[in-house]
Amino acid sequence: MMKRERSVGRLVLKGTILDGSGREPFTGYVTVEQGRIASVFPEAEAPAEVMSQLDSTDAQVLDFGNAYLTPGLIDIHLHGGAGADVMDGSADSLIQMLRYYLAHGTTSILATTLTASKPDIDRALAAAFSVQQTERIGQVIQGVHLEGPFLSPKWPGAQHPQWICNPQTGWLREWTARFPGFIRILTLAPELEGAEEAIAYALEQNIIAACGHSDATYDQVRTAISWGITHAVHCCNAMRPFHHREPGVVGAVLLHDELSTEINVDGYHLHPAAVELILRLKQDRVCVITDSMRAAGMTDGVYHLAGLEVHVKQGAARFADGTIAGSTIPLVQSVRHLVQKHGKSLPEAVKHATSIPAGIVKLHNKGLLKAGCDADLVVLEQEGLQVKRVMLGGDWFDPETHNFA
Ligand SMILES: [Zn+2]
Repeated sequence: MMKRERSVGRLVLKGTILDGSGREPFTGYVTVEQGRIASVFPEAEAPAEVMSQLDSTDAQVLDFGNAYLTPGLIDIHLHGGAGADVMDGSADSLIQMLRYYLAHGTTSILATTLTASKPDIDRALAAAFSVQQTERIGQVIQGVHLEGPFLSPKWPGAQHPQWICNPQTGWLREWTARFPGFIRILTLAPELEGAEEAIAYALEQNIIAACGHSDATYDQVRTAISWGITHAVHCCNAMRPFHHREPGVVGAVLLHDELSTEINVDGYHLHPAAVELILRLKQDRVCVITDSMRAAGMTDGVYHLAGLEVHVKQGAARFADGTIAGSTIPLVQSVRHLVQKHGKSLPEAVKHATSIPAGIVKLHNKGLLKAGCDADLVVLEQEGLQVKRVMLGGDWFDPETHNFA
């Protein structure tokens, strides 16, 4: 299916607006025109000029009562779901996964690769690029997060150790030539031979250089900051931990404002006190991610992650040795966890899944309900924060049938 024309005409949505900025919710209107948000205003402040337009015959008004209207959720670290994985290198797999996440309110993702052979990574990038270019639902893909293979063999986490290697700037050159502007984050271990050159090339290409799966010392991370790294993936997971005489990657991430970071609040990856510590120290420099894999949205059982066997039991994905291997939840569940398990306010929780990740990845038209932004939004029931409706670029996507209206 080719991309089709975005809906034209003014759509008016009324509900309890959580605009993604962290502001308290308010009853108001969001108007949508040609795939973008045209205006947002509280009920009491509705300008007469806009109100008269609401009465015009071509305006369609939808009242969601006390349900929340939030920006579409943005997951910048996502490997798979609904039985599919980015590393399958198949358009059908990607579409299956995108349908699942879009139905759960995730309207933007970075398709995240895993450590694999170069031909396998080539294939994964080609499939994601083609889906983004040709499919309506491909607009959910904002680009790729290359996680590996330039990682530390000491901290493979769920990455296949066989294919871990030193940074190869030549590969990056090839990928950026084949898929211009498509790689958004390059995660690497900055202590490896060749990292400085790869980071310099990433910056030249407008790619965010991130530290992850790293055994770097505190001083090595500081040096990497001077080379241009600005982000660190899944804080505390698969990185040299904090020690009072060698603060490690964790110490550097927590202390240095130059670095934004990610937390996985699936209930398995981080102790609640670690979540609180990271949120307090990083504030608006930390987003939630899911790091979810193929088993998201599926039943418990045995799955494969980059050629490795993963056992999923009660939603926890682990290798046979007990190592955690990604998550099995959509980002809306992370938002619920932030509220229900970590005591965050709903506006804060939504901000960590919308405007903050948008800022980190420089998605300037996303993450807020604000005039001029893309009309990516979610209608959430107040009760249990269940996803009721999802809009992508001004078009409704039905969470039940997994089709555009
Ligand atoms: Zn990882």
